[in-house]
Amino acid sequence: MNNDCVFCKIARKEIAASEEFRDEDVVAFHDLNPQAPAHLLVIPTLHASHLSDFVAQGRPQVAVELLAVASELGARFGEGKGYRIVANEGASAGQTVFHLHFHVLAGRRFAWPPG
Ligand code: 5GP
Ligand code: ZN
Repeated sequence: MNNDCVFCKIARKEIAASEEFRDEDVVAFHDLNPQAPAHLLVIPTLHASHLSDFVAQGRPQVAVELLAVASELGARFGEGKGYRIVANEGASAGQTVFHLHFHVLAGRRFAWPPG
C-alpha cells in the first residue's frame, strides 16, 4: 500500500481540501484544477491505485457508496442540467494520481467522445 499518496493525505486530513462529503469510507472534495464550473473528486479512504485493485479488495459496498456520493454531488452541482462521472484508469487514459477516484463534472455542456 502506498499511504504517502496525495489522496491518502487528503483522506487523513494531512493536506487540506475543500470537502463536500466525508464518512468512514468515502471523501469527496473539489479538484484543485477544475475542468468545469463544478469539478469534484470522490475517493475511497482506503488506498487502491486502480479501480481493478479496488474491486479485488472485495468491498463492493464501498464501490456502491462511491457512486452514490458521486451521483448525489452530480445532481446537486448539475442543478438539473446533467453531469459527468469519469474514472481515468491508467496513465494512457489520463490517470495522474494513482489512488482510485471518480471525477464529477457539472455546470457546462460536455462533448462526446471525450478526448
Ligand atoms: P487524474 O488525472 O488522476 O484522473 O486526476 C487527478 C486529479 O487530481 C486532477 O484533476 C488534479 O487536478 C487533482 N489533484 C491533484 N492533486 C490534488 C490536490 O492536492 N488537491 C486536490 N483537491 N486535487 C488534486
Ligand atoms: Zn492513496
